[in-house]
Amino acid sequence: MSDNPMHTVLLIEDDPGDALLIKEMLEQQECKACLVTVERLVEGISYLQQNHCDVVLLDMNLPDSSGLPTMTRLLDAAPSTPIIVLTGLSDESFGTDAVKSGAQDYLVKGEIDGRILKRAMFYAVERKKLEITLKQTRDLFERQARIDYLTGIYNRLMFNELLEAELQRARRYGSDLSLIMFDLDHFKEVNDTCGHNIGDHVLKEVAQLASNSIRAHDILTRWGGEEFMVLIPKCDQSKAAILAEKLRGLVEAHDFGNGLQVTASFGITQLKVGDNADSFTARSDKAMYQAKQNGRNRIESL
Ligand code: GH3
Ligand code: MG
Ligand code: MG
Ligand code: MG
Repeated sequence: MSDNPMHTVLLIEDDPGDALLIKEMLEQQECKACLVTVERLVEGISYLQQNHCDVVLLDMNLPDSSGLPTMTRLLDAAPSTPIIVLTGLSDESFGTDAVKSGAQDYLVKGEIDGRILKRAMFYAVERKKLEITLKQTRDLFERQARIDYLTGIYNRLMFNELLEAELQRARRYGSDLSLIMFDLDHFKEVNDTCGHNIGDHVLKEVAQLASNSIRAHDILTRWGGEEFMVLIPKCDQSKAAILAEKLRGLVEAHDFGNGLQVTASFGITQLKVGDNADSFTARSDKAMYQAKQNGRNRIESL
């Protein structure tokens, strides 16, 4: 523990004899951590909400809580603090259940000595650190799987999930659902004349412009390279056309740097009876294609 000093150990234990034993064991191990002892779960929770603590030693049977909920309530209140559960000889299975539910370890009273306790605390702290790192990594991967790395808006995978949910909702409640697809005009020329980095910058700014123009429950997505979608719940085609016109105007008027200007072509459609995700998105694509054919920087509806 020398390179990882403990500062505070919280002992939640209602039996004064057991509490004394733990205190003596820590002293005997020359553990320099400050031992804080409380007798009730609520006191322990309240302590952890106001103070940092390196590790908790938790008796599962307390005056105000008994069994597994003692541990899970504490874990909910202090998810980043490692917990070692103390069980009696007769209820060792509580210990394994507690570990399965998120405690770092369990120790059986009567079998503990100072060395075992010290080692358990050390491992509990290390294991918790690993658990937190793993969770952060998993959260990051989950985010990366759903968010477009360049623009920070949803990617197609996430969009498809959200679209299915919105389709079901619209069918169940008979509510309107509209879709805007837009594609930047002659974007290849932007890359060819200004370079790919400027092209990337334009994509980011377009995403930002659109993101600032929609409501919280509208779903903006980078559908493909320079194609975007806005899924608009509780909105009919005529209202979607108003939003599309607003977006078209914003993109057209925006200075993307050094006078660089870009336009986009928009296709809009509304959910119809018999639609599925494919037919719905294909119609918005077809409408957008018509906008290209009819001269670009315009909106078509289907
Ligand atoms: P149109 O008006 O018909 O849509 O013409 P366009 O040039 O926009 O269409 P095209 O499909 O020929 O070209 C799309 C371009 O978008 C080509 C591709 O290099 C560019 N693009 C796609 N993804 C990215 C990206 O992530 N960054 C950059 N900079 N360019 C991208
Ligand atoms: Mg007890
Ligand atoms: Mg294009
Ligand atoms: Mg395209």
